[in-house]
Amino acid sequence: MLEPNLSIPSRRALPGVLMAAWMWAGLPAAVEVPPCPLDKTAMTATGTTRQEAGRTLAEYRCQQGHVYWIAVD
Ligand SMILES: [Zn+2]
Repeated sequence: MLEPNLSIPSRRALPGVLMAAWMWAGLPAAVEVPPCPLDKTAMTATGTTRQEAGRTLAEYRCQQGHVYWIAVD
């Protein structure tokens, strides 16, 4: 979005989400999405994406309803 400083403001707002995004940021886009770290259920893409600090983040939701933003570029 319009956040030149990518880590500070977003991290304060969404710590878990960004941590998840960072954990998986190094994985190739084609790799299978890992299970939810909280309950180990499979996650599926919701089809929603957004841009943040030059990265493309895709929204994923597990079977228990936890939502994660995963870098896919
Ligand atoms: Zn979950």
